[in-house]
Amino acid sequence: MIDQNTLFIGGTLSPAHAPERIEVLSAATEEVIGSAPAADADDVDAAVAAARRAFDDPRGWSAWSPDERAAAIERFADELEARAPQLTELVSSQNGMPIAIAGMLKSGLPATVYRYYANLIRTTELEQTRPGLLGGRAIVRQAPVGVVAAIVPWNYPNLVTALKVAPALAAGCTVVVKPSPETVLDSYIFAEAVVAANIPAGVINIVPGRASTGSYLVSHPGVDKVTFTGSTAVGRQIAKTCGELLRPVTLKLGGKSAAIILDDADLTANIEGLFQATLLNNGQTCVLNGRILVPRTRFDESLELFAGLVNGAVIGDPLDPSTQVGPLVSAAHRNRVEAHIAKAKRDGANIVAGGGRPAHLDRGWYVQPTLFSDVDPSSSLAQEEVFGPVLALMPYDDIGQAVQIANDSAYGLAGTVWTADESHGIKIAEQLESGTVGVNYYMLDPVAPFGGIKASGLGRELGPEGLAACMRTHTTYLSTSA
Ligand code: NAD
Repeated sequence: MIDQNTLFIGGTLSPAHAPERIEVLSAATEEVIGSAPAADADDVDAAVAAARRAFDDPRGWSAWSPDERAAAIERFADELEARAPQLTELVSSQNGMPIAIAGMLKSGLPATVYRYYANLIRTTELEQTRPGLLGGRAIVRQAPVGVVAAIVPWNYPNLVTALKVAPALAAGCTVVVKPSPETVLDSYIFAEAVVAANIPAGVINIVPGRASTGSYLVSHPGVDKVTFTGSTAVGRQIAKTCGELLRPVTLKLGGKSAAIILDDADLTANIEGLFQATLLNNGQTCVLNGRILVPRTRFDESLELFAGLVNGAVIGDPLDPSTQVGPLVSAAHRNRVEAHIAKAKRDGANIVAGGGRPAHLDRGWYVQPTLFSDVDPSSSLAQEEVFGPVLALMPYDDIGQAVQIANDSAYGLAGTVWTADESHGIKIAEQLESGTVGVNYYMLDPVAPFGGIKASGLGRELGPEGLAACMRTHTTYLSTSA
């Protein structure tokens, strides 16, 4: 049992003002495994004030040279990596992520993201003098945007935190992180790493809490930029607040991506990649392909293959390395996923595999991986994000129709194309209305911008684009040309 009574603000763990607490349950056992304070307005005020002080300190973080910041970020990456086993186990206990996939996504990749930004800030040109067209010249300088509020969901807490905190730190910003209540316990290990890495006080502050903590933080007058990952519904509310305040905001929201299987694709050879693209983290992954589009001529073969994939998945304890599909994060989330399954049945879709709860598990919020066929592309199952292990297999007659079905979505986050001909796959990928697409593969890479269009969000994380989102430009016009 991990009961926390403190909040990480201004470089130390100090008692929370808030009397309200968050209970954290194990997704697999449904038992309470810990608790933490739910930060209230006073706590958020203290965290923002600490971040503000650290940012405004004339000899502080934002005034450090890129090399000094990069060295500190690298120390932090080392400290996080040293705690990877603890972080991995704790996150899996809280959100049900199979530990076998957790190693890479929860510990390895976050450290890689921090190191990428440490390296990038060393080599990024932060000031340019441009010869003017009117006789003078202009100095264009990149400056850190200020205090960043980072609001994080429960599905990949360490990775999503890294996508927000790493570029902000590199830019010279200071940060207030609000973890999700479902996965709040690992944020205390994150705080330990901040201290061990000697990151100056106030540069990173953490305020666990629910929606009210998040919305108070978003509109706080001491915050200069908001970066949010979560549902489209909450993203719209945050966009509205930031619109009123004219506050820069990055929004990484939901998705309903499609996998397009071309007629030359070798499904058997790509079975592992197809599993990752459709069922990773029990379906609780924003970029998953809940819609699988297959040529009508290969429909029966595909149905058999995906039914085998879904029926053959090893369901069980997320901490068991052989588990491929663990429980969903909470009882409330399982109810939502089961409501999607029930609605799809009412809408006339045909259950090919799964559809219920695994009979061998009497505790934990498990749902069987589920495959539907006969799914109308305009039905709820084809249009709405389920965020669980529920797949819709749909036939297409020609590639134009496949692209049209894939693009017929309110969302535009990800997608994949599966083919023996990579260059043809790239051409199809470029026709998809989506921020990112993979060909025979899908994995975020630190070097490339990640994010969505349409209802999947605004702005990009990762790559130099993610760094630029934490900077503001300042121009000085000069009358002389040299
Ligand atoms: P959520 O929107 O319910 O919550 C996300 C975070 O926002 C949590 O920390 C929550 O406490 C906080 N929050 C809730 N209401 C708020 C408000 N009014 N103001 C400020 N903060 C508020 O989402 P979730 O259920 O935690 O995560 C699942 C969703 O996240 C899915 O829709 C998924 O697609 C999306 N997601 C997107 C990406 C991406 O990169 N595009 C990545 C992961 C998850």
